[in-house]
Amino acid sequence: MILVGLALLMTGVFSYWIVSQAPASSQAELSELQPSNPVGVLPTATPSIDQADAAPETATATATPSPSPTMPPSPTAIPDPTFDGQVAYQHVLAQVALGPRPTGSEAGWATGELIIAELEKAGWQAEAQEFIFNGVRGRNIIGRREESRGPIIILGAHYDTRPAADQDPTESLRDEWIEGANDGASGVAVLLELARILEPDKLQHEVWLAFFDAEDRGRLDGWPFSVGARHMAENLTANPESVIVVDMIGDVGQQLYYERNSDQALSQEIWAVAAELGYQDYFIAEPRHTIIDDHIPFIERGIPAVDIIDFDYPYWHTVEDTADKVSPESLERVGRTLEIWLEEKQ
Ligand SMILES: [Zn+2]
Repeated sequence: MILVGLALLMTGVFSYWIVSQAPASSQAELSELQPSNPVGVLPTATPSIDQADAAPETATATATPSPSPTMPPSPTAIPDPTFDGQVAYQHVLAQVALGPRPTGSEAGWATGELIIAELEKAGWQAEAQEFIFNGVRGRNIIGRREESRGPIIILGAHYDTRPAADQDPTESLRDEWIEGANDGASGVAVLLELARILEPDKLQHEVWLAFFDAEDRGRLDGWPFSVGARHMAENLTANPESVIVVDMIGDVGQQLYYERNSDQALSQEIWAVAAELGYQDYFIAEPRHTIIDDHIPFIERGIPAVDIIDFDYPYWHTVEDTADKVSPESLERVGRTLEIWLEEKQ
């Protein structure tokens, strides 16, 4: 994924570079997605990365009061969430243990196998959707449940990792492949834990869990971003009601703002559920960045889509994007929010 909004704020030259480096076929789309007067709509307050990192980790204690004898559950109470951040974190560790996982690599293929195995273990049917791009073999994976009914909601995350630490402060490390504990593994971990705890027969919607390959090679070797997500969007066999992408959501200093390319009504709906759960210090109901990510190919086809992303991550596209930067509590806040949003959604 790549940032558009903050780059425009930082330097006009850099924003020109982003647009000028886009493949010719996508330049028009890219400029359409950018606000015509980006500076005018950017937030007045721009917290620094240090501030983002220093976000307090105190809201979880108040998020989900467990029923006690003195506090009988009311009939209108939010159903008890069961998404477990510790279990999700194990999915981060399992992916990172495979090493860096770029599209076309052995570890990338093994990650796909791991996802398929976890989906099947949780009772989901896993469908592989292979494609070739620039001579490289990629593979999306879609999890479905037979008993699902209702309009389709796709929850998506990319599972490939970037084959270059091109944002690393140390120049000699910039050709290294990154571990992608947050940028890659965290979104997948949330989806896999949702696979375990969702009860599809109790939902009003049919949920697809989509694992995208080839998101994160953009601007390298002439590749665009979101190759896998675009392949899926162009080959849909049904018309989903909405698409929710989770990317870089697991960092310790979690700050999830509205992303500006996302459907705003849907974003507000999800952030409102997060607030009900006591997560308002982490799901901050204000717009911030403008991001090119896996939601864009769906938006371009008229499907309402949201990117849940914390772009204020100091280790983005560096060799330091490692599992110690990811916290179970952060994974849990995103997982429980999506769990309750799906359970409550009519
Ligand atoms: Zn990335």
